[in-house]
Amino acid sequence: MSSRRRFLGTLVGGAAGLAVPCLTPAMALGRSRRGAPLQVTRLTDRLAVISGAGGNVVVLSGPDGVLLVDSGSMERSRDLLEAVATLPGGRNVRTVFNTHWHWDHTGGNEAMRKTGARIIAHENTRLWLGTQIWVEWQNRTYAPRPQQAWPTETFYTSGKMDFAGEPIEYGYLPQAHTDGDIYVYFRGQNVLVPGCVLAVGSYPIIDYCTDGWLGGMSDATRELAGKIDDKTRIVPGMGPVQGKADLLAEHAMLADLQNVIWRLMLKGMGTPDIIAAHATQKYDPTWGNPDLFVHSAYRSLYAHCREIRGAV
Ligand SMILES: [Zn+2]
Repeated sequence: MSSRRRFLGTLVGGAAGLAVPCLTPAMALGRSRRGAPLQVTRLTDRLAVISGAGGNVVVLSGPDGVLLVDSGSMERSRDLLEAVATLPGGRNVRTVFNTHWHWDHTGGNEAMRKTGARIIAHENTRLWLGTQIWVEWQNRTYAPRPQQAWPTETFYTSGKMDFAGEPIEYGYLPQAHTDGDIYVYFRGQNVLVPGCVLAVGSYPIIDYCTDGWLGGMSDATRELAGKIDDKTRIVPGMGPVQGKADLLAEHAMLADLQNVIWRLMLKGMGTPDIIAAHATQKYDPTWGNPDLFVHSAYRSLYAHCREIRGAV
């Protein structure tokens, strides 16, 4: 076994034991399994968060139906629809945004389409859902999803819409956690939903296998922070509600580690060397085990080395 394959095997084994924010290895499509009760948290009169069904699902209530941001995992889609139905207008899911392609954020798409909902996402998310994907850091192949799971409407840059009188802004965050990340901002409610660009309690995932990269994560967190104020509540892809200070803390960490890791790469170091050099040490008490982050940061920086040479 090559040292590279052995190292990846260690990462995958390690990731299985960590609270990895996305693409939890235990997830599998096609299984319908009832689990622990989902948690419904009201944020405002009109907004709620449902957690426990894969990634966080944000629900905006209107008199004639609801809008969701993300659709959870397939195995919990029945539970999710039941939880949504307890909220005002929740028996009629009209619109769903997908923040990115990962299955714990799009797994309920088929169930939502069956209720007649339209699904909005970045075009790259639609493309990923329609193709086979090899995720190296998980040693896992994701099969194409059936057409019923694909977004019905896609966009490339940004947009605005109104849902039951509530203004909604959404936009693309180029090549960050994946290459199809979007945010949804409920400006009137002052609630931002950035998907997994904001991580809680562990280093963010950079899914370089679908063209996420460290520099894009750094840019995305800076851009999002510029759209909000100190009272904005941020619902991350996983975990509890955060604030602007949390987003800025992640941005500072990402920007610093981009420099640190790149300079070590220029010395000829590979991922195991950078981990052994404890390059992330001062951030580890906050962000946890850095191994997967360093591996994916390295791979993503390597892919973007031309543009970094001009900036660092
Ligand atoms: Zn994700």
